[in-house]
This record gives sequence, structure tokens and C-alpha cells, in this order.
Amino acid sequence: MGKNNKKFVEAITAIDEDFAQWYTDIVKKAELIDYSTVKGCMIIRPYGYAIWENIQKYLDNKIKETGHENVYMPMFIPESLLQKEKDHVEGFSPEVAYVTRAGGEDLAERLIVRPTSETLFCEHYAKIIQSHNDLPKKYNQWCSVVRWEKTTRPFLRTSEFLWQEGHTAHATAEEAEKETIDMLNVYANMLEEYLAIPVLKGQKTEKEKFAGAKATYTIESLMHDGKALQSGTSHDFGDGFARAFNIKYSDKNSKLQYVHQTSWGVTTRLIGAIIMVHGDDSGLVLPPKVAPIQAVIVPIAQHKDGVLDKANELKNMLSSAVRIKLDDSDKMPGWKFNEYEMKGIPVRIEIGPKDIENNQALLVRRDTRAKEVVNLNDLKDRVLAVLDEIHKSLYEKALKNREERTFVAKTLEELKDTAENKSGFIKAMWCGERECEEKIKEVAGLTSRCIPFEQEEIDTKCVCCGKKAEKMVYWGKAY
Ligand code: AMP
Ligand code: ZN
Repeated sequence: MGKNNKKFVEAITAIDEDFAQWYTDIVKKAELIDYSTVKGCMIIRPYGYAIWENIQKYLDNKIKETGHENVYMPMFIPESLLQKEKDHVEGFSPEVAYVTRAGGEDLAERLIVRPTSETLFCEHYAKIIQSHNDLPKKYNQWCSVVRWEKTTRPFLRTSEFLWQEGHTAHATAEEAEKETIDMLNVYANMLEEYLAIPVLKGQKTEKEKFAGAKATYTIESLMHDGKALQSGTSHDFGDGFARAFNIKYSDKNSKLQYVHQTSWGVTTRLIGAIIMVHGDDSGLVLPPKVAPIQAVIVPIAQHKDGVLDKANELKNMLSSAVRIKLDDSDKMPGWKFNEYEMKGIPVRIEIGPKDIENNQALLVRRDTRAKEVVNLNDLKDRVLAVLDEIHKSLYEKALKNREERTFVAKTLEELKDTAENKSGFIKAMWCGERECEEKIKEVAGLTSRCIPFEQEEIDTKCVCCGKKAEKMVYWGKAY
């Protein structure tokens, strides 16, 4: 890289200067999205969609390995169907979009563009579940849903988003409870092992739980700027929906019983999490396992004899082991370096006439920018090892950021003070009362992120009212 490097850089906002603007710059300049004419929607471009496809591939395998089947439901819900479960309709009605006219006529009943498909699955389950032999039903669908959000941000919160939604029905409450936790663990493992994002696992409070759920479990992650992101949810419905939709099975004694249900989902929001957890001043930094391109070969002085031949040879050698790209376009190497840094490609391999003479290449890591000369005989093994190292160090770095940004508060004053002066998770004890949760929101601007499974007793008293504390809660400001 020469002194001329600067002229290839299309400036993006510095990450610690204006995080929101930095994010907006990246989604555009890394060619992940384009804005659509419908406010709050986005066009996911090939590079962004390739990330989603990798997430899909990984997760679809896990979903099937755990005994689920994919199905497809209609995108429209008759209004009367959504209204069957009281809490559910109340929770979703501010965000729903209606179709009122079609085929040149006003519709007799308005149709809702699905914001989530519990009601459709319930209607179907009521028809196809009769006996204990029909259970469990473990369905999943990949689709998009529409929630008319007031404030939107690419990937993090859009009016239409892509997701998977699992919907299951079980004979017993215990089985449904186990399914809810099992799938939360699938999500947690995906974030940690595939996306290099550490997560907190826990339960949502009554105030924050899903409309119609008995219990909502969540994985929460912390972004570079110290704001939290709800990254996936898993809901235990008990038999609430079964009662509203009359979903019954006859048990072994021919007695009619309600089924117990769950649902769980993750969305294109995960791409936002990847950007906000790992990115830096030069752009995107992709965790190797999900990166559409894991290594890029940039030939140096490619017009010289033998350079492109060698570069192609390396590409062929590596293509069985990693997702690889060779850029043999006539753009300057400096331009290419910047371009692939912006796109977050984990490893860059430079090969020029001098390297060829010495049977070597220069390997450059995107995350640390560490450079090493590698003998071509060892290149494949070394690239694989470096990809592994990058995954580990991205995870460690994110974990360190979370640990440095996790604070403790024992009084409301401390909570308020920390919220004003620091950015991150704040651990504090809570009595379990909604009033205290609301007061904390009002006074400190914090929401409860989760009641973690891993509890600590920081104090015996509620941070807000001073009464006996029930649980330790992570509080924070969230996207
Ligand atoms: P829910 O069905 O409300 O539990 O949502 C499932 C998951 O979708 C949540 O855990 C969020 O991570 C994500 N999510 C919710 N709203 C949006 C949105 N507007 N855009 C993208 N992702 C969302
Ligand atoms: Zn309290």
C-alpha cells in the first residue's frame, strides 16, 4: 500500500464520532442495501443478501436437525382471524398494514399483511391436530413480514423484514417449555459460533414480553456504542392460543386436551448486529464463517508475465477450502484494498512478481491488519488457520467490549447517573413490579433487556423502591 492510498478512500464517518451516521455510511458503501421509495423498506443488494443466505443455510440446517419441517403460509390474514387472541391483536394492531381493495372491488373483509403468523398456524393446527399421534407439530417458515414501524433503520428495524418463524404444538406444557429454551439455545449458539457475537440469555419481563405469550425468552447483544440489541426471541404460549383457537387433541385415555405452543424467530436484524458489533473506521468486518467471500486475491503488477496465471492457480487451489474471489480487474491495487476492507472480507492475499520468485504471498487480516508472508505450499492451511483466529479474536473483542461496558447500580440515583454518563448494560436488582420498571424508564431512560438465566445477587433490595428484590435484571438503551 503506497502513499497514494488516501485518494482511493471514499470517506466514511468515523465510528466514534457519529455511530449512527457511520452505520448509514456502511450499509450503503459496502453495497448491502439501497433505500426504497416506500419509507422504512429496503432493497437488499446481492452482497447483503449473500450474508442473509449464509445465515439461512446455517440456521435452516439446525432447524431441520432439531426435527422441524418447513412450510409456507399465506401472506394475508383475515382481520377476524387476527382478532381471536385478545392480547395478540392489541399488541400488533398499531403496526399492521391492511389490504382493503383488490381486483377492482372493496373487500368484504379487510386483509392484514402478516406481522407474524401465529393466527394462521393456529387455524391450521386446529384442523390437522386431532390425536396425541399428531403431536408434536414442529413447523417453520421462511418469509417476510410487515410491521409498520414509526422509526426505521436498515436491517435493525424495517417495515418489512425477512425472517424465519418457528411454530410448534406439543402435548404438554413441559414439552413446550423445553422447545422454547432449546430454540433459544440454537439462536445463542448461532450468534456465538457463527457470527462471533456474545449474547446474554434470559427472560423478558411481563412488560416486554410478546403479545399473547406466557413467557418470552431473548438473546441480547451489545453493540460497539454500548446500546443493546434484542437479537432473537422464543415464546412459550402455554395453552393460551389453543384456547382461543380451540386446538385440542385426544390423549391416550381419549380425553380432550389443549395443546401447548411455542414460536420463535430471528430476522435480517442480525445483519445489523454483525455490522454494529464488528465494524470499524474502514468499514464492515465480517466474521469469517458468514462472510460471502472469505478471502480475496489481489494481484500486484498484474500486467507482468505470469502474475495472473499464478493468481488463478492460487484461486483454484483455495477454492475447495474457502469462498474465494480473485479481482483481476484493471483497477489499482490500492483501490481494491480499500474496496475489500469496506466490504469486510476477512483475508486479503497479495501476489506479485517478487512473491512469485520467492514462492510466497502476502496475507493480510482485515480485523487487525496484521500482515504475514506465507510460503505458497502452506497457503491453504494458513488461510484456514487465520480465518479461525479471526473468528476467535472478533468474539473476544466483542466480549471485552461488553464486559467493559457492563455496570452495576444499587440505587436509583446510581442507575440514573450511570445511564447519563456511560453507555452499556447496567445490572441492578428488581422487585418484579411493573411500576418500578416504568419509573426506571421515566427517570433513567432505560428498559429492562432481560432477566438473565445466570443470576447474581448484587443486593437484596430493589434498585427503585427498596423493597425485597426478586431478580437481577440487565437494563439498557436499545435499538
Ligand atoms: P417478535 O415476533 O416480536 O418476537 O420478533 C422476533 C424478532 O424479530 C425479534 O427478536 C427482533 O430481533 C426482530 N424484529 C422485531 N421487529 C423487527 C423489525 N421491525 N425489523 C427487523 N427485525 C425485527
Ligand atoms: Zn421495586
